[in-house]
Amino acid sequence: MSLEILCPNCGTDDELRGDRRDDTIVITCGSCGLSWDRPVRPHCPTCGSTDVVAHPVPLVERSRGTQRSITAMHIETLCRECDADRLAARHDGHLPPALGD
Ligand SMILES: [Zn+2]
Ligand SMILES: [Zn+2]
Repeated sequence: MSLEILCPNCGTDDELRGDRRDDTIVITCGSCGLSWDRPVRPHCPTCGSTDVVAHPVPLVERSRGTQRSITAMHIETLCRECDADRLAARHDGHLPPALGD
């Protein structure tokens, strides 16, 4: 199973490493050192469906200048049923596309 994820900080996909810890995979970017958690079996907290999209959301710290740095990642789980409208609103291309091959 591919991680289907890019490092939100440096954009690499081939330096990513996943360490399984119970129900969470800790993803570490070997390129820039950012790490974040990813649920192994994401599911909807409302209806329990596993037909969800686990959406990585970078937590960006803004400093005064134009510099932005990603300090952590939050995985937002959106259900195709309960969060359909929010998912539709997400087609704004602010995240890199899933990995090709
Ligand atoms: Zn990185
Ligand atoms: Zn749901």
